[in-house]
Amino acid sequence: MVAAATSTMQDGTFLTSVDFLNARFVPTDIPLKPRLNDQRFYHKRSRRGSVVAFETDKWPQGRIPYILSSAYTTSQRAVLARAIAAYSAKTCIRFVPKQETDKDYIVISKLDGCYADFARVGGKQQVSLADECVDYPTVIHELMHVIGFIHEHQRDDRDGFVRIVWENVINGANTDFDKLSSVGLSNYGETYDYFSIMHYESTEGSKNGKNTIEAKATAFTKLMGKSTDFTRGDLNRVNRAYKCYGKMSY
Ligand SMILES: [Zn+2]
Repeated sequence: MVAAATSTMQDGTFLTSVDFLNARFVPTDIPLKPRLNDQRFYHKRSRRGSVVAFETDKWPQGRIPYILSSAYTTSQRAVLARAIAAYSAKTCIRFVPKQETDKDYIVISKLDGCYADFARVGGKQQVSLADECVDYPTVIHELMHVIGFIHEHQRDDRDGFVRIVWENVINGANTDFDKLSSVGLSNYGETYDYFSIMHYESTEGSKNGKNTIEAKATAFTKLMGKSTDFTRGDLNRVNRAYKCYGKMSY
């Protein structure tokens, strides 16, 4: 791994070609860690589905300007580059260095744990990736919130696929298991996906080690929430929401 020459901008930096070269050595096949309370909603509105539906909530042309805190190490920058390169390879979403003319943008920094503002908020919005969050699947997951994904197990049709075991959920984590049912979201033709990168695993947020989520198809209970990357269903939803198909060469 080569030391990254960083380009600076205000109090932050952008990823460099060296970071993207280092990204090739980043492991991706690692388990997700718990990420309770990591999706933050600025605009209260009705939702139905799993992915943002209104054009006003999306990032125009899938272009997401970013500023990166200068606090990340060379190896952490490589992880971030790996995730951003994966979006570029598999979708038409582009995380691009913020230009002066960009009014809506994300700031990626080590604030307080792992979380991201949901969809395009307007103006500056935050992605917090503290040290414990800088691994490939977690970065992919948090950036999915940025482009407009909720958690899979919070879809309004989830009751047909999973059961929430409320008595095992730690106090204060209830909102991570609430069903989000209203308008403003779409599933873009994708059925419930136990393997989505946006699904929690069965014991996440548990106060006693017992399951908080159980699959109706019981064989999936142990398997769900263990993805280390986008599923085909995740990619279909990204690419349909952002009208990527036809723009991509893969
Ligand atoms: Zn999340």
